[in-house]
Amino acid sequence: MTEQDPEFARAMERVTAWLRDDKELLIGGTWVAAATGEVVEVVNPSDGTTLGRVARGGEADVDAAVAAARAAFEGPWRRATPRDRQLLITRFAGLIDEHYHELAILESLDLGVAYVRSFGKRNRTVSHLDFYAAVAGGRNAGTRVEASTMPGRFGVIVEQPIGVVGAITPWNSPVMSALWKIGPVLATGCTMVLKPAEEAPLVSLRLGELLIEAGMPAGVVNIVNGRGSVAGAALAAHPGVNKVAFTGSTDTAKSIITATTNNFARLSLELGGKSPNIVFADADLAAAAKGAIAAGFTNSGQICTAGTRLFVQDVVYDEFLAELRMHTARLRVGPGLEPGVDVGPLVSRRQQERVQGFLERATQQGAETVVGGGDVDPRLHAGSFIMPAVLGGITDDMEVYSEEVFGPVVVARPFSSADEVIRMANDSRYGLAGGIWSRNIDTVNRVSAEVDAGIFWVNGYGLMDPAFPFGGMKHSGYGREGGLVQLEDYLTTKTVVQGTDL
Ligand code: ADP
Repeated sequence: MTEQDPEFARAMERVTAWLRDDKELLIGGTWVAAATGEVVEVVNPSDGTTLGRVARGGEADVDAAVAAARAAFEGPWRRATPRDRQLLITRFAGLIDEHYHELAILESLDLGVAYVRSFGKRNRTVSHLDFYAAVAGGRNAGTRVEASTMPGRFGVIVEQPIGVVGAITPWNSPVMSALWKIGPVLATGCTMVLKPAEEAPLVSLRLGELLIEAGMPAGVVNIVNGRGSVAGAALAAHPGVNKVAFTGSTDTAKSIITATTNNFARLSLELGGKSPNIVFADADLAAAAKGAIAAGFTNSGQICTAGTRLFVQDVVYDEFLAELRMHTARLRVGPGLEPGVDVGPLVSRRQQERVQGFLERATQQGAETVVGGGDVDPRLHAGSFIMPAVLGGITDDMEVYSEEVFGPVVVARPFSSADEVIRMANDSRYGLAGGIWSRNIDTVNRVSAEVDAGIFWVNGYGLMDPAFPFGGMKHSGYGREGGLVQLEDYLTTKTVVQGTDL
C-alpha cells in the first residue's frame, strides 16, 4: 500500500467527505454538541491549514458522559457474556481493519506522522484487538479458597469489572493509545469515558463511529473531546469514575494523582521517558545505527519510548556517529501524506517552538550538533517541522540530557564499560524503556537486568506486541498496557464467603 494506490485515493476521498461536517461528542450512544455549543478547529501540522471542526466538551459534558457510562455499566452490559464482549471486539477489529486506510490518513493529517508509519501499524493494531477478543472469552474468572480458620467455610473469589473508567489519552499515537484502553474496557465489562487530546481528536471520534457500527451498547464507550485542564481535569476528579487510565506527561500526571484523592479512583499512568539506547562495540553496528535512527526519529521523536539518550562505547563512538550522520541526513522530512516522506512535522507550532527552545539552550550550554536541527526547506515553513538532530559533547548538567524533549532530538555520549553505562542509564528520573545492541550474551544479560526500564529491547528497538506488557518505572508511571497483566487493572475482586459452620 503506497500513497499512489487506488485504495489510498478512495480512502482520501472518504476522509475528505467525513471532515466536512463538524464532529460532535459521543454520549450515551448518540452524537451530541457540547453543552456550551463550543467548537474548535483542528489544524493540519504539515501545512497549517484547518482540517475540520470538533465540539469542545466541558464539565457538563463530562458529567453527562459519566452518567451514561454508569447507566450502561448497571444496565444490560452487566449481563453481557464473555462471548458477547468477545464478539463485539472481533467486529470492532474487523471494522478497523476494513477502514484502516482512512484511520491512517486521519492520523497522518491530524498528527503529521508519516503515512508509511501510520499505515505500517495496521497489523499490530488489529492484532491488539484480536488479543483482547481472545482473552475476553475467558476473563473474569473465580477461584474457590478454603477458609484457613473456619471449618466448613470457603470463599468464592470472583473478578468483577472495576466500573467506569476515565481514559485520558495523548496525541502522539491516537489510534493505539485509545485502543489500549478501549480493548481492556470491552474485554472485562467496564464502561468508559474517553477524553482524547485536543491536538489530535479526529481518530478517536472515528473509532467511536466504528464502535457503534460494531454494535456497542449505548454508553459503553463515551467520547468527550476537550481541554485537558477542563474536560480532562473534570474526568479525573469525577466522583462517578472508578479508575483513571492516563497516558501523557509526567507533569500532568501529578495533577491527576491529586484529582483522584477526591474519588479514590484506581490509577494507571503511562508517562514520559528519556530512554537509553546502548551500543556496545561488539554489536552489529550497521543494524544498531538503523535502529538508533528509528528509535530516535520515528514519529518525529514524539514517542514516549523514544531512544533519546544514545550511549555508544568509546572505541566505536566516532565511527558510529559518522554512520548516524549519514543516515540522518538521508531522512526525508516533509508533509505526513507526501509519498516517500520518512519524518513528518511535530504535532503543533507550540510543540515545534518548544523543541526549538531545547535545541537553542543545548547549544548555549555547549552541546555540539552532529547533524540536523537546522532550518527546514522553505516550502515547509507553513508546517511545524524540525530537522532530526543528533547532539554530541553532552555533559551531565545539560537540560537536553535529562529532560524529555518529545521531538526528533537524540543526545549521544561515549561510555567505556558496562558498569559505567548502567550507572549513566539509570541516572534519570525516568524508567520507561531502553535497548542494548551487543553480541555478547553476558553483557546483554547484565545490562538488561540492571537498567531501570519497564520494557527493554535486545538488538532491536521499539518492538511491541499485544502479549507484552508495557509501562514504566520511577517517574515514567505505573500500571501496564498490553499483556494479560493489564486486565488486572480493570478488574476488582469480591470474596463471597459461603459454606456452613461445622
Ligand atoms: P502533552 O504535553 O504531551 O500534550 P499532557 O499530559 O498535557 O501531554 O496531555 C495528555 C492528555 O492529558 C491530553 O488528553 C490532555 O488534554 C490531558 N490533560 C492535560 N492537562 C490535564 C489535567 N490537568 N487533568 C487531566 N487531563 C489533562
